[in-house]
Amino acid sequence: MTTTYDVVIVGAGVHGASLAFHLARRGVRVGVLERAFVAAGATGRSSGLVRMHYDLRLEAELVWKSYPYFRHWEDMVGAGQSGFVRTGFLRLVPPAYEDALRANVRMQQALGIPTLLVGADDVRRLAPYLVTDDFTVAAYEPESGYADPPAVAQGFLAAARGLGATLRTGVRVAAVQTTPDGSAVQGVRAADGTVYAAPVVVLAAGAWAPRLARTVGLELPLTTWSHDVMFVRRPPGPWSPADLTLIDDLNEMYFRPEQGNLLLVGLEVGNPVGEDPDTPTEHPHPGFVERAVEHVVRRVPALAEGSLHSAHRGYDGLSPDQRAILGPAGPTGLWLDVGHSGTGFKIAPAVGLALSEWMLDGAPQSVDVRPFGVERFAAGRPLRPEHPYGDIWH
Ligand SMILES: Cc1cc2nc3c(=O)[nH]c(=O)nc-3n(C[C@H](O)[C@H](O)[C@H](O)COP(=O)(O)OP(=O)(O)OC[C@H]3O[C@@H](n4cnc5c(N)ncnc54)[C@H](O)[C@@H]3O)c2cc1C
Repeated sequence: MTTTYDVVIVGAGVHGASLAFHLARRGVRVGVLERAFVAAGATGRSSGLVRMHYDLRLEAELVWKSYPYFRHWEDMVGAGQSGFVRTGFLRLVPPAYEDALRANVRMQQALGIPTLLVGADDVRRLAPYLVTDDFTVAAYEPESGYADPPAVAQGFLAAARGLGATLRTGVRVAAVQTTPDGSAVQGVRAADGTVYAAPVVVLAAGAWAPRLARTVGLELPLTTWSHDVMFVRRPPGPWSPADLTLIDDLNEMYFRPEQGNLLLVGLEVGNPVGEDPDTPTEHPHPGFVERAVEHVVRRVPALAEGSLHSAHRGYDGLSPDQRAILGPAGPTGLWLDVGHSGTGFKIAPAVGLALSEWMLDGAPQSVDVRPFGVERFAAGRPLRPEHPYGDIWH
């Protein structure tokens, strides 16, 4: 049996969902094929941070373009909700990077992003429970916070379906199909033999995308990145439910509040690469909780009295420069929305918009995402910020 669409999207994570919405809004007949359920991959495990502070200008642009979706979901998308919670966001870097921090805050301010430099005294007033003796300056974003990644994916897909898109869950795509000479895409074949025909196929299959790309002879420069997070019950203390979200490069960790007086904590170090993304994600890697406690207590000593609520892991595709891979590749009609390298949730709205423009208008209009093309690696042009902090994950 063959079903025909204008565009087939493989994967119902936040990226497949966002693109489906933006294409459907332009009258495109979209079929989204998902092997499990909506947000079954990285999206369902994501910490959901929505902050604007990037060292790469293009990523700052993407997240700033995405921000109104999270904040004004009802007006922008119209179905479901983003679950956005405004907490304020603080970015701390080692002293050697403070000049870069100043330059990046200027770059972000020039884009219109609400961000400012604050001193250690300001931080102490903002969050008296933080250790503040190891930095002099920090970046603060009063409007940032976190959102609910599965809800965002569900909302985009509900709106897309309202505009005529089809979502098929429980459909595992086995291969991308091409013309006999391999020059152009014709659709995909599911594991049960069903063919979904389309002149355009988008791989939005997260950590699983390389397997599908290989079915048309395309070797993606991606490995699998694994990331553990834990939820800690906060002991009685000077907390409030919407306390700060923080990325702390000095202690190689980040945290954000979670409902129920919890704190979600993740680490920038020790995220294994190259594992099979089908490894069960119910548990973190052995030793993660102990390491995470050690790192977070250096910044928030009071958490030594906290207790573990739960922990899990997730998998995402990691590219060599730890930035997304977007755009056409391989046979005519094949598009990539992959390699989100552990930071792709917050940019998904703008990426879906820009990719839909690129596909339908010949070039992206809102944010020029063409530098994210996969050819940058073979050409020796990885994306490098003007004032880099170094790799996020190490
Ligand atoms: C633990 C963790 C914490 C994170 N925290 C943050 C954060 O705080 N902020 C942030 O911005 N980013 C964060 N990220 C990154 C972000 O969540 C991801 O970059 C983003 O969710 C990727 O979305 P995606 O749609 O590309 O992939 P996924 O969500 O992985 O979706 C891919 C989908 O494709 C499906 N699929 C795979 N193969 C097939 C097939 N053959 N046929 C059909 N379907 C298939 C999968 O089932 C899956 O549902 C985090 C990631 C993890 C793992």
